[in-house]
Amino acid sequence: MDIQFKVEKGRVLVPVGIPCPFGCKYCYTRNGEVGPARVKPAEILNHLQEFAAVHSFNTIQFGYDSDPFAFPERGIAMLERLIELEKHINFSTKACIEGTVLDALAAVRRRLGGHLTLSALVSLSCWESAPTVEPHTPTPEERMRTVSNLKRIGIPAFIAVRPLLPHIADAEYEHVIDEALRAGCDGFILGPLYADEKERFVRFVPKDVLRKTPGRKVVVPWSAHAPVWTRYEDGVRMQRIMMLVEAKGGKVFWSSADAVESVIHAVL
Ligand code: SF4
Repeated sequence: MDIQFKVEKGRVLVPVGIPCPFGCKYCYTRNGEVGPARVKPAEILNHLQEFAAVHSFNTIQFGYDSDPFAFPERGIAMLERLIELEKHINFSTKACIEGTVLDALAAVRRRLGGHLTLSALVSLSCWESAPTVEPHTPTPEERMRTVSNLKRIGIPAFIAVRPLLPHIADAEYEHVIDEALRAGCDGFILGPLYADEKERFVRFVPKDVLRKTPGRKVVVPWSAHAPVWTRYEDGVRMQRIMMLVEAKGGKVFWSSADAVESVIHAVL
């Protein structure tokens, strides 16, 4: 499978190109449906440069197939090349970013033009259940450290609560919200749980709970590779979590594109 790009909502998703070692149970990147598992950074960046020459877009979202900071030297090196395209950049991570990696990221931020933004999505899908659902991933506490560290170097950080897991109690999400607000996050993005035909990314969810969760087949809109998956999403529950966030003084965005847009508007 070739690497592909697509403009959606003014943004282009850019892969890391190396399998992610974090091993979240809901991870949909393992079977290659959203892109090839291994691609050299130079190949990704050269293809992207060719794509950018003939397509118009404002924002790069880096890291949908893996975590850019699971191998931080690779992530930083790719960001250093990405800023040459002179677009707004957003990256997704579950890594604990501190020390020299944080310093390198601050240097990337400084090199990006003042009219351009660098922002982050830090993902959490649970709190107390993280050791079973995300067993090899930096802990929720470490991810909160990432949020406060990013804020300290002037990088807006949103919490991606996605997938919102049907069998995880609201109380865990309340814990996520409280900790994230304390860490200074700029808002929350709530998102669905995806399942392929063989239900490989949802095996850990009790079947009776999954069956009761509203789901519909969709062509995944943000992927250039257009997999057809079931999107599990309980709209009533999402509204409830949104109200919880707002009652605590936080802000909810329904897509990462909207969150990034809010950062761009703030600097214009
Ligand atoms: S951090 Fe993201 S890419 Fe890595 S295993 Fe978890 S869901 Fe998959």
